[in-house]
This record gives sequence, structure tokens and C-alpha cells, in this order.
Amino acid sequence: MEMTTGNEMMITVSGVTKNFGAFRALDGLSLNVKKGSVYGLVGPNGAGKTTFIKALMGIYKADSGEMTLDGKPIFENEEVKSRMIYVCDDLFYYPTYTIEQTAKMYADIYPNWSNELFEKLHDIYKIDLKRKVIRLSKGMQKQVAFWLGISAQPDVMILDEPIDGLDPVMRRNTWRLVLNEVAERGMTVLISSHNLRELEDVCDHVGIMFGGKMVIEKSLDDVKGNIHKIQIAFAKEGSDEKLALFTSNLELLHESRMGSVASLIVKGDMEDIKNIAAQYSPVVFDIIPLTLEEVFIYELGGMGYEFENILI
Ligand code: ADP
Ligand code: MG
Repeated sequence: MEMTTGNEMMITVSGVTKNFGAFRALDGLSLNVKKGSVYGLVGPNGAGKTTFIKALMGIYKADSGEMTLDGKPIFENEEVKSRMIYVCDDLFYYPTYTIEQTAKMYADIYPNWSNELFEKLHDIYKIDLKRKVIRLSKGMQKQVAFWLGISAQPDVMILDEPIDGLDPVMRRNTWRLVLNEVAERGMTVLISSHNLRELEDVCDHVGIMFGGKMVIEKSLDDVKGNIHKIQIAFAKEGSDEKLALFTSNLELLHESRMGSVASLIVKGDMEDIKNIAAQYSPVVFDIIPLTLEEVFIYELGGMGYEFENILI
């Protein structure tokens, strides 16, 4: 196995455009996914998530732009694609095959395939190996896709709205298995969803897509470290002036008032902000952690987007 620093780019996508006739579904899309990370691609229906994933998997040919895995072009590159697994709704190799037959085919295609893991996971995905994939319910087909996908031990797992169709127990089991591969083997995951909340607990990077473009990308470490909600109040005498002075020292994203207490969304280092606040002797000073959703609401607002139009 190669030594890795954990910091290198696994997937690089730059300037990818895809037109369907006169309609531009991807419009210069760029993003980077680091090895061993879980990257959430979030955007409303029609944003272009599935089109992008299909272009990445070589199901569609992009009109322009570059997509590489470890620096190697992905398109029509069987060696590279045998390191990637794609789990989605509308694609399964040979649906008339039984699970067992499909597993044999996976074993031929994917060099890291583990029969041992496949048999072990039968305890979780308790579906008869002799059943034909096409005869299973949609949710069971999804289970089989994960069962086979995890057993293939890919370097990269691409999941397009994968949670739809799995019941809550299977959802939890499957996430545990996927995240275990991330932790144990440094597997890289790219996952799309129209729902930010669904992803924020599992992803370490989130990119928001809209109109075929990447609108904003965040590492959750940056988010946690760098944007804060502050509640602050000063003694009545001169409080407005103090607040104005305090905020003039900050990178202020949003401000609202409830009586004498001001709520501020502020960018910057928490210790710096505390030190500045101390100079004005506030009578109330609280720092409240922001959810990822709040961060996006404020930042997208600052960029001229209405969050409600992009995500719910
Ligand atoms: P998402 O997965 O983010 O919901 P899609 O990638 O499926 O979005 O679709 C992005 C846009 O491209 C939509 O407007 C959709 O109608 C259009 N589109 C997707 N596939 C095709 C296709 N094969 N032909 C024409 N238009 C398409
Ligand atoms: Mg889609």
C-alpha cells in the first residue's frame, strides 16, 4: 500500500461543462476531494448533482473540463474506474443476475474485492444469495448495492442520494460500515443529497451546488473554527456607541437586536474576538456554536443567494 499524508487530492474536477442540447446542466464545475475524506455535494433538485456524478463515472462524456483520480484522467480509464464504486438508484450491472452471480462479476472487475468481507456482511444484509436482484424491492436493491460496493473495497465510493429507500436500521448499519472503511482504509467518499442536515453529521467537507456550478465549499473544521454567533450587551450608558465600536473591529456577517442584547454572526478567531470584546466591558457576552446550516444561511446571504431558494 502507498504511504499517504492524508492531505493529498484524490479527486480533482476542474471547469467541467455538460450540455443537454441547448441546456447547460454543468457550468464550469470545479471541486476537490481529499483522500480519506467524506465530501457532501449538496444542492436542490436539478442543481446538476447526478449529471456531475454520471460525468465523473464516465456514463456521460463532459463537453469540457478535467476530472482525475490521483492525477489520472478518469474517463474511459478502466484501471482507474475499478478503484471506484458508484451506488445510485437507477443503475445496476445485470439486474437479471442473482446476488451471487453479481458478486462473482464484482470479484472479476474490482481488484480489491474481498469474499471474506462479502460473507461477513451477509450477517447485516440478510438477503438470500440465490435471489435475482431485479426481483428485490428498491430498498433491498440499495442494500445489495452497498453490500457489494463495500465488499469491493474501493478507494473511492460515490453515492448519489443513497439514503432514499433504506429503512432507519439499514441506514445506520450502512453508514457505520461506510465510515469504517473511511477510518480503516482511508476510503474516500463523495455523497450527494438535496438535504444538508442529512449530511452534516457524516461529512468533513461540504460543497453547495446550484445551477450547475459550485457556489461555496467548506471544510467542517473551518466552519467550526471560524464563524461564531455572539450575544453581547453593554451597560445602558453609551451602549450603542460601544456596540458600534465593537462591531467596527469585526468581520460582521449579520446583526440583530433583542432589546439591549445584540446577536452577531462574526467571522474570525474566537480568542481575538474575546479580546476585542473585553476592551468594551460588556455585561453580557456569550459565544454560541453555529450549525452548518446557519453558516450557509449567512454566507450564501452575503453572496446574494437566498438560502431558502437553494436548500431547505
Ligand atoms: P440533481 O441530481 O442535482 O437533482 P440532475 O443532474 O439530475 O440534477 O439534473 C440537472 C439538470 O439537467 C436538470 O435541469 C435536468 O432536467 C437536466 N438533465 C439531466 N439529465 C438530462 C438529460 N439526459 N437530458 C436532458 N436534460 C437533462
Ligand atoms: Mg440527482
